[in-house]
Amino acid sequence: MYSIFNACKKSRLLNSNLLINKNINNNSRSFITVVTNPITLKQDVKTFGPFPEYVKIVEVGPRDGLQNEKQIVPTNVKIDLINRLAGTGLSVVEATSFVSPKWVPQMADCKEVMAGIKHVPGVSYPTLTPNLQGFKSALESGAKEIALFAAASESFSKKNINVTIEESLARYKDVCDAAKENDIKIRGYVSCVLGCPYEGRISVEKVAEVSRKLYEFGCYEISLGDTIGIGTPGATFKMLSAVSKEIPLANLAVHFHDTYGQALANILTALQFGVSTVDSSVAGLGGCPYAVGASGNVATEDVLYMMKDLGIDCKVNLDKVLDISLWISDILGKTPSSKVSLALSHKNQRTCK
Ligand SMILES: [Zn+2]
Repeated sequence: MYSIFNACKKSRLLNSNLLINKNINNNSRSFITVVTNPITLKQDVKTFGPFPEYVKIVEVGPRDGLQNEKQIVPTNVKIDLINRLAGTGLSVVEATSFVSPKWVPQMADCKEVMAGIKHVPGVSYPTLTPNLQGFKSALESGAKEIALFAAASESFSKKNINVTIEESLARYKDVCDAAKENDIKIRGYVSCVLGCPYEGRISVEKVAEVSRKLYEFGCYEISLGDTIGIGTPGATFKMLSAVSKEIPLANLAVHFHDTYGQALANILTALQFGVSTVDSSVAGLGGCPYAVGASGNVATEDVLYMMKDLGIDCKVNLDKVLDISLWISDILGKTPSSKVSLALSHKNQRTCK
């Protein structure tokens, strides 16, 4: 596997394009002025590829994002958000969660949301179903794809869904069997793949084991989630090395949170590894309940911006996503956590539409 680390060592272009001037100011403190000559990105890219030609973006803002926002968003806004996102070219928009409103009040209107959205042909709208009861409700609401949420950390599983990993998997097996009987696609999430808020580091073998079980149950795709956003490219590489021994790369997705600002670097590492499905959230919706004030999901527009210059086709209109980012952020009364949205909104004087 050709890694980013080898690539960086090989690339002499970077150094040859920088002129570094070291100056001494009046206080005798040194500072550095870096002058960059124009570089042709395409040429550089060739030195550290290859990348997948197409990357599928799984938009998780309406579910994972809004579920972790403090305020409860009105149902009509959720429906509008999902419909707008489905109009950008995205092929997957995670819609809602059929979970008890006692635990997740933000998703109490799951049936109304499923009834209200347009269901655009060619767009998939997975809904989270933690148990058979949730699955039945999702089925009645017209869901064609569901998602399950297992953890690679025993402590996280117990605190988050109140059962051990083993117990959760037994429950999911029943849900998967019921889904297969009804021709419903199943997506599996594994959380805490690069760290747990209670246990710290998680063994890559455990991540691989839980992922393999979900895959064997019939999940067509396993989304590997860095739930607390603690991962780095090095940890990502090791984790993917272990999991890809159990599951084909074509069936893996990555789900990064940007708590430590590593999400894009981790995604780049995953792309180099051969992963071609990336979860992201418009405007970076969703906070991080385990690190107060920290960023949540990586923003869709940040991912698209990076992909564009790598020559990767995501078949998603970045301008439309930017408009949605500003629109939903305005409704929530916050600024997008997306760096690209912030930069381009200032540069182009963009307004919410
Ligand atoms: Zn997330």
